[in-house]
Amino acid sequence: MRLILLGPPGAGKGSLAVMLRDRWGLTHLASGDLLREAVRAKTPLGVQAEAFMTRGALVPDTLVTAMMLERLRGVPTTEGFILDGFPRTVAQAEALDQVLQAAGAPVDRAVCLETAPEMIERRLAGRRVCRSCGMNYHVRRMPPAREGICDRCGGPLEQRADDRPATIRQRLQVDAAQAAPLVAHYRQRGVLRTVNGDLDVPDLFAQLTAQFTQEGLLA
Ligand code: AMP
Repeated sequence: MRLILLGPPGAGKGSLAVMLRDRWGLTHLASGDLLREAVRAKTPLGVQAEAFMTRGALVPDTLVTAMMLERLRGVPTTEGFILDGFPRTVAQAEALDQVLQAAGAPVDRAVCLETAPEMIERRLAGRRVCRSCGMNYHVRRMPPAREGICDRCGGPLEQRADDRPATIRQRLQVDAAQAAPLVAHYRQRGVLRTVNGDLDVPDLFAQLTAQFTQEGLLA
């Protein structure tokens, strides 16, 4: 299954993607994780992207699109994938459509997690992320068994620099400007599904798994 997760930062896309990946063996490509990796490794892309990310702005389309399409080329056509955080703009979506259509493997579903803004601010401020495997936690809603340590791989948990209040507000504004045209893009293609992002991630996972299995997209 070729799946795109849409929704504001903190809607739960990352946690949901990890559950779907682990259960269904799909490749999970998160543009934010890949960009943070590039920043840490100080690659040319990372050096260019860092200033945009630190202030909560979008990294230019050309850079992100090239990075994601390059990663997608490495995914065997028989294997499904989940894109999380990409596309973020209609230009990115169009570039992606072109490549997937040429490969005869278009997007099956774009799922938009609709979430109340107050909920998002609370989730992002309490979010902690495993530096090694990318698993997300929340200091109150989903704490790890041992403080600061990932349950899954034992890696260190950290707060993202852009999960601080001033940057969170900037990211939410940027997202609000991009969200409607992106949702309209996938609605027009008949692949959009909306779900209630205020639900806990395991409930969302169960709901989507049931729906996609029934539709024959997961087996
Ligand atoms: P995320 O982890 O998805 O919240 O992304 C963190 C940051 O990476 C964003 O605030 C942007 O600066 C950048 N970023 C991630 N994905 C994209 C994208 N598809 N287009 C542009 N910038 C992106």
